[in-house]
Amino acid sequence: MIFDSNSSVYAVFGDPVSHTLSPVMHNRAFEVTGFKGIYLAFGVKNIKNALFSVRTLGIKGASITIPHKIEVMKYLDEVDYIASKIGAVNTITNNGGSLKGYNSDGLGAKKSLSEKTVIKGKKIAVIGAGGAARAVGFCIKKEGGRVTVISRDPDKGKRLAGDLTADYRPLNDIGGMRCDILINATPVGMTPDNDGMPIERKYLVKGMVVMDIVYNPLKTRLLSEAEKAGCIIVDGVSMFVHQGAFQFELWTGIKAPVDIMKRAVLDALIEREK
Ligand code: NAP
Repeated sequence: MIFDSNSSVYAVFGDPVSHTLSPVMHNRAFEVTGFKGIYLAFGVKNIKNALFSVRTLGIKGASITIPHKIEVMKYLDEVDYIASKIGAVNTITNNGGSLKGYNSDGLGAKKSLSEKTVIKGKKIAVIGAGGAARAVGFCIKKEGGRVTVISRDPDKGKRLAGDLTADYRPLNDIGGMRCDILINATPVGMTPDNDGMPIERKYLVKGMVVMDIVYNPLKTRLLSEAEKAGCIIVDGVSMFVHQGAFQFELWTGIKAPVDIMKRAVLDALIEREK
């Protein structure tokens, strides 16, 4: 593709960004749809200055990642309903200098879970009380899931459960817990902690749906153990790709080539795991 002054520039801002797979995913999507766009990664410490650049340079849209998802909200012109309820923004659109924030993480989680099971009415345990747990919890609650937040920090866990009007259980006291769907929304199990499991194996029961939002490694220990126990598994790549598809459609107005985006991410991950 030839880039010129009519090309649209998109970016991810975070610190660090060296491992992000968003450029691989979005640039492949631009390529196959013929959309004249390019997506770049910027390691950014000062998000206020980064947004100044977005306005100055006419960058058409951006992904926002750790550690800027909350602070960035202060510098936007508008925040959509879901992102403001979650309290974090991971996607920005730039409409002639007016910046609007969205959150695609929870939508990605809901979509990837919906490919494997019905959410409405199900008992869903979400482990973690950070930004991703907040986004996932909000979107599955909105879909009619009966959420229990499980975390090691009672203050954060109870606060999230309160915000979601959900139940709370401390991570070290989940004996007797029964759920239809279990979601790991902590970094436990992420490379290099490949042997890490957020809960013991005995809680993985045949027929349960187990989702891990960690996607590096592709199959975390939690997912391997869940598969052995006869659970249905949902990996973090699926959520990552669906949240990216939401961004792509918001920015371009074109239907996202989800399968091709997923292939690009899987190929990059497989290459990394070699
Ligand atoms: P975060 O805001 O830092 O929250 C992390 C949460 O995990 C906190 O509740 C933290 O508890 C808990 N936690 C951390 N280590 C733990 C441990 N050893 N045992 C129990 N709980 C632990 O991070 P985040 O933004 O929510 O991201 C969480 C994970 O999701 C990351 O690995 C991220 O890469 C992944 N993620 C994936 C996608 C995707 O598309 N697949 C999207 C977003 C995020 P404390 O508060 O007590 O530390």
